[in-house]
Amino acid sequence: MSFHSGFAAILGPPNAGKSTLLNALVGQKLAIISPKPQTTRNRILGIINVPQQKSRDGGQVVLLDTPGVHLPDSSLGRKMMAEVGNAMEGCHLILFIVDVRRKWDAADGLALELLKKSATPAFLLLNKIDLLPDKRSLLPLIAQFEQVHDFKEIIPISALRKRGLDDLLQSILQALPKGPRYFSADQITDQPVRFMAAEIIREQILLSLREEVPHAIAVIVDHFGEGEKLTRIAATIYCERDGQKAIILGKRGQMLKRIGTAARLDIEKMIGTHVYLELYVKVQPGWRESRQFVEELDWRHQLEQIAGPSERR
Ligand code: GDP
Ligand code: MG
Repeated sequence: MSFHSGFAAILGPPNAGKSTLLNALVGQKLAIISPKPQTTRNRILGIINVPQQKSRDGGQVVLLDTPGVHLPDSSLGRKMMAEVGNAMEGCHLILFIVDVRRKWDAADGLALELLKKSATPAFLLLNKIDLLPDKRSLLPLIAQFEQVHDFKEIIPISALRKRGLDDLLQSILQALPKGPRYFSADQITDQPVRFMAAEIIREQILLSLREEVPHAIAVIVDHFGEGEKLTRIAATIYCERDGQKAIILGKRGQMLKRIGTAARLDIEKMIGTHVYLELYVKVQPGWRESRQFVEELDWRHQLEQIAGPSERR
């Protein structure tokens, strides 16, 4: 039996279930999920180690979750699309994922264009089959996709219900080159916990607030103090207008309190200590248009800042 390893990028239109698939395959929540488009803003790396068995190949799959493909209309959008491009560069396999219920639209076309530009082999993943009352309706969909691209494999799955994922993982392994692992066997991501904490806070905002507010939100962790039993975290929620700030705060601060409590519980689950979470809300007009601010949101940039002499706050 042989050992395969390599990079696979998950690509597709917004809301197809890319992040749900990453979490399901890794077996841990690395990416936040919401029913709103553009939940994922940067590429998220997840590592899966498949043990070698007598009758089965083993290996290491390095998965890259990406923002949904869309026409960018801001600095943030352009940064998100750059993340998609970076993930696709140098990967061995592309997992092109679509929602089986959706009619073909511009977002699918745009994603497919990106796929066609790269010479990397691709699987087509037909996701959310749990929502299809009649599986026969997959056939015309498959025929349609076969006409537009030469997919190496076409695999129906449900990322949410974890259906078809074992077979998918085996197929991915077979499509990766033979070779040793890229990451140590106990590592599951490259994201620092302080960034994951910021994402968990943003997820609670996405789940609690109306459509237009979450898109204008960014979260930066200003302080992350780890203790054996208690982790102290201070974070700032940035929005673009006073009206949005009022919505985030809610009547007598009730909304912010609710968001904070839900986020704290999730962060505690992730890091396994008690958490003391302080949240601040600031208005930063038009931040999505600011290249500098968007760059500061990137945790790789934040790490450089932390490594330097002046930690924020
Ligand atoms: P992304 O934008 O492509 O990363 O999509 P997400 O993973 O954030 O998922 C978008 C929405 O689709 C969320 O509400 C998920 O719960 C839902 N979803 C994802 N996969 C499935 C699936 O297999 N079945 C069903 N029913 N819902 C799914
Ligand atoms: Mg996502």
